[in-house]
Amino acid sequence: MKLLSSLKYEMPEYRTYKCTSCSYSADVVGFKQTDFNGSYETVNCKKCKILIDCLTEEPIAIDEFEGIYLLSPILPVCLVCNESDNEIWDVQTSKCPKCNSKMELTRLIIKPNDFGMDEIKII
Ligand SMILES: [Zn+2]
Ligand SMILES: [Zn+2]
Repeated sequence: MKLLSSLKYEMPEYRTYKCTSCSYSADVVGFKQTDFNGSYETVNCKKCKILIDCLTEEPIAIDEFEGIYLLSPILPVCLVCNESDNEIWDVQTSKCPKCNSKMELTRLIIKPNDFGMDEIKII
């Protein structure tokens, strides 16, 4: 369990990673992101051989006035196969889940939540 004393809401950021050898690409957060729904991290699902964003911590107590959020770790479950045979994707090595080659960051998308408009930055 972890106490976050100064959680600011930040726009979710999505990144596109492309494999340098096969054609696989994934739109994922890449880095751990925390908002009022909990923390999201990109995991490598060993069954589906894909990268997918999963909830890895959920809030168990929120006091917005005090800015206090208690987060508790949960088992990441793949939204495609519904199983938890996965590991947190290591963005430093950026291994492709299909062929194990290096994946490259090709763009960053910042998604405003409620407006449905995407600001796209090509890197
Ligand atoms: Zn690949
Ligand atoms: Zn899966």
